[in-house]
Amino acid sequence: MASSTRGRLAGKNAVITGAAGGIGLETSILFAKEGANVLMTDISQEALDRALTKVKQLVPDAGRIETRICDVSKEADVQAAVESLDAWGGLDVIFNNAGIMHARDDDALSTPEEIWDLTHNINVKGVWFGCKHAVLALRRNGKKRGSIINTASVVALVGSATPQLAYTASKGAVLALTRELAIVHAREGFRFNSLCPAPLNTPLLQDWLGDDAAKRHRREVHFPTGRFGEAVEQAQAVVFLASDESSFVNGTDFVVDGGMTKAYVTPEGPAAPPPV
Ligand code: NAD
Repeated sequence: MASSTRGRLAGKNAVITGAAGGIGLETSILFAKEGANVLMTDISQEALDRALTKVKQLVPDAGRIETRICDVSKEADVQAAVESLDAWGGLDVIFNNAGIMHARDDDALSTPEEIWDLTHNINVKGVWFGCKHAVLALRRNGKKRGSIINTASVVALVGSATPQLAYTASKGAVLALTRELAIVHAREGFRFNSLCPAPLNTPLLQDWLGDDAAKRHRREVHFPTGRFGEAVEQAQAVVFLASDESSFVNGTDFVVDGGMTKAYVTPEGPAAPPPV
């Protein structure tokens, strides 16, 4: 399949981790629509096959869209995925998005050590591996610019009142490592930005809230918008960060949260608009 010459990401070669669902899948769809060639990676081939079918149905004129198993906690997997794009002309964009959250409320006393390690192996080490092999690939292929986007979370900015300590700490580390790499590689033209989503309607959130409608409502009323976000609203931000439109955006904690981190909202919500 030839590269697309149309769209905001025309001809860019991208790796997306955690691409089988949620934010990763919505981003794969938008990247395909915007002309990128996309390697969708995740840990289940079955889930990737379903995701690929969806992308191809929604974007029948997509460029090159392929799938590959990649457990981001294994450096060899990440390296192989990134290096496979050398045959496409070399990586331009990586969206280090795969992440897990333990579905229990755990604080400093109750967090099991194995959950701490598992969470950090995927959420932090996986992001580091993605950044490392992206830089190596960009250099190897003589690229003068590249965009690396790492998924953090609003909990890295404001913490979480329902404790999820290992997750919160891991996302804080994503912000810190992203900022540092943004500075170190800025003069090579390689940009690093973090995406900070607020809670969204994805399977990850479903694990956290279960089918408890009251629990869900108690969370939603504290959003200025009165609702959780949608994965596609994160994907739209990722397209911007991946594209050359964001050429001077580097090292940011790019917050996509409907205003959630900016104010405490009472259950009555913000003032209603005045009558016209
Ligand atoms: P999701 O569970 O729908 O998607 C995460 C994907 O990562 C899944 O497809 C899963 O199979 C994959 N994955 C898990 N372990 C992996 C591994 N070791 N290697 C590769 N892939 C692996 O969740 P989502 O909401 O789309 O989450 C995407 C990212 O957004 C995560 O980093 C998450 O922490 C972050 N985030 C989500 C929310 C939310 O409310 N959903 C809020 C803030 C941040």
